[in-house]
Amino acid sequence: MKDFFQLPAPSYTFEIFPPKGSTDLAGTYATVDALASLTPDLISVTYGAGGTSRDNTLDIASTIQNRYDICGLAHLTCVGSTKENIAGILDELQANHVGNILALRGDLKEPSELGEFRHASDLIAFIRKRRGFRIFAACYPEKHLEAPSPEEDLCRLKEKSDLGVDALISQLFFDNDVFCRFRDRARALGVTVPIIAGIMPITSAAQIDKMVTMCGATVPDRVRRFVDAYGHNSRAIKEAGIAYATEQIVDLLARGVDGIHLYTMNQADVIRHIDENIRGILYSMRVKKD
Ligand SMILES: Cc1cc2nc3c(=O)[nH]c(=O)nc-3n(C[C@H](O)[C@H](O)[C@H](O)COP(=O)(O)OP(=O)(O)OC[C@H]3O[C@@H](n4cnc5c(N)ncnc54)[C@H](O)[C@@H]3O)c2cc1C
Repeated sequence: MKDFFQLPAPSYTFEIFPPKGSTDLAGTYATVDALASLTPDLISVTYGAGGTSRDNTLDIASTIQNRYDICGLAHLTCVGSTKENIAGILDELQANHVGNILALRGDLKEPSELGEFRHASDLIAFIRKRRGFRIFAACYPEKHLEAPSPEEDLCRLKEKSDLGVDALISQLFFDNDVFCRFRDRARALGVTVPIIAGIMPITSAAQIDKMVTMCGATVPDRVRRFVDAYGHNSRAIKEAGIAYATEQIVDLLARGVDGIHLYTMNQADVIRHIDENIRGILYSMRVKKD
């Protein structure tokens, strides 16, 4: 079975989400098939807020890990969960040979919702007590929305990574300078693990507005311009989004990024186009680890 941390770098990974409120996974598995044919190093599976997709996330991550020659990464949020709940999920992941977890707090609706875990760091410390898991965590190039300042968010990130995180995956961003400044500041603080860049191709005007509200990503003027110009035309906006994501990735690779994580939004056709554009460059840069 492949070990993500032994694969050549820069890494190349995808994120998918399970169907909402349905146990019919046929559509999702068709997406997994299409994405798997692009031979990423790993496919991660999101976890619905408050554990709403628990079984589907486990099922899909386990299928990726066991049926394809690709590492599965199960997202796991801890907000509102008990230690007993989380221990049960870890047991299931272990039983299904899924050894990679993205340990997250999850979004808060009410601060009272926190329960036995207050921060992702509590979940990381809890998972670390067990053997056999590789832990990924989230990071925020433009700071987490709740953080009072970028400096404080970075200090929290350093604390989180010191607990034994193996890799970080970033929130989406549209400005590579923002990501590279963040990466350099994290390195200067002593964060040494891979910091993987999260890239979301823009595929509609509505999507970009939603993402900006949800995560506070800055939208550069030239992105806003093409969204305004092509947003009414579904084909044009997709093509512009593919071109922009391609450009972001080509530039990040030149700037020595540790890995590219594509937020696929389950749109395998979009990812296939980006893959065609960047594959030659990515694979020419990949170096085997010692
Ligand atoms: C790559 C990625 C994947 C994601 N996948 C999912 C998913 O599958 N499902 C889902 O529901 N959500 C997902 N999210 C969203 C995530 O759950 C939210 O951003 C959430 O609000 C924060 O989670 P976290 O793990 O970063 O939290 P934390 O690391 O706990 O940070 C949250 C806030 O608390 C602060 N903080 C951290 N530790 C402390 C401390 N000890 N004391 C005081 N303040 C502290 C931080 O500065 C930050 O402002 C994802 C985000 C990313 C970047």
